[in-house]
Amino acid sequence: MVWLAIAAGPLLWLSGAIFFDCVHVLLHLMHGSRSALLRALAHPHQIHHEWINRDLEVCWEYRSQNIWCHLVLEYVTQLVFTAAIALLLPLPFAVVLAALQTGLFVVILRYRGLDINHQPIEMLDAYRPSASAPPAYHALHHVHPDAYYSAYTRLVDILVGGGIELRSRRVVIQCAADPLGLALGQQLREEGAAVIESREMADEALLSRTDVLVLCDSKSDEVPILESFIEATRTRKLPPEAWVVHTESENPTARHYVDDIRIHYRTLVVPDVETLTEPGAEAVARRTVSQIRRGLHYVSSAPLSNHLRGRRRFHATQPIPPAASREVRHRSEALETA
Ligand SMILES: [Zn+2]
Ligand SMILES: [Zn+2]
Repeated sequence: MVWLAIAAGPLLWLSGAIFFDCVHVLLHLMHGSRSALLRALAHPHQIHHEWINRDLEVCWEYRSQNIWCHLVLEYVTQLVFTAAIALLLPLPFAVVLAALQTGLFVVILRYRGLDINHQPIEMLDAYRPSASAPPAYHALHHVHPDAYYSAYTRLVDILVGGGIELRSRRVVIQCAADPLGLALGQQLREEGAAVIESREMADEALLSRTDVLVLCDSKSDEVPILESFIEATRTRKLPPEAWVVHTESENPTARHYVDDIRIHYRTLVVPDVETLTEPGAEAVARRTVSQIRRGLHYVSSAPLSNHLRGRRRFHATQPIPPAASREVRHRSEALETA
């Protein structure tokens, strides 16, 4: 039984971490509540956001408060989960889980809160798509506290649609007069984005002010405009984001950019984009935004089984870096040698 409990330990620990992610979402909802009591209960977590603010600066004056209001309370929340496990499973499972949680708590305490997810960041790299939530993903939660809630696995963001922040984001849509461009613009406005419809795609001043670039014209070469966008935003602390419409899953250029740390890149696979009617475009736009809110980087208008097949084909595609693209390990390298 003890060996079984030890073997199950990592899975139980992950379940506890997901439980805390759920509590985390609740704390943010309570913070936005009209009830003073709920806001007061959520206040300790806001100290954590003061400790590392929206500019990703570490505010040292909150260091001690962060330990008591965030680290200790997170540990206590995990122990509550462990107590529930003790009621459901034999005691060794709860003992192993408590030991893992306590060990990690002690390690994070030794770093006084500056753990792997909480390091000072000069320039943030784009996170790569995966089921886990790497430090670059958690950093985005500190920039946009109403999204990117997940700390270890992305499960909670998939469930609550917290995989992206769209409110007040400056979005530029190419081919905004086409059915899909129009429908995406409308959908994004409903999500609270500041949509700028523009055909002046080579305008560097516009690109430098853009958060999300949407390229709907599947026939034009995406590389020049993407490289111009990356160049125009290269001094920004946060990486830019692009959504690019393709008619096929197997696209070596898209396969390259989705792993490029210079940009958050999503491929939108819409085979019939050229013949979409207005109602069809609206359905594709709704599905697209819903999938992106769930954090997907391979987005498709196809039904689920075809979607999964297309996703497999996309990931099996050999990436081909465009000649104009530049390989860097961190965005800051492009800044140093520019
Ligand atoms: Zn944090
Ligand atoms: Zn938070």
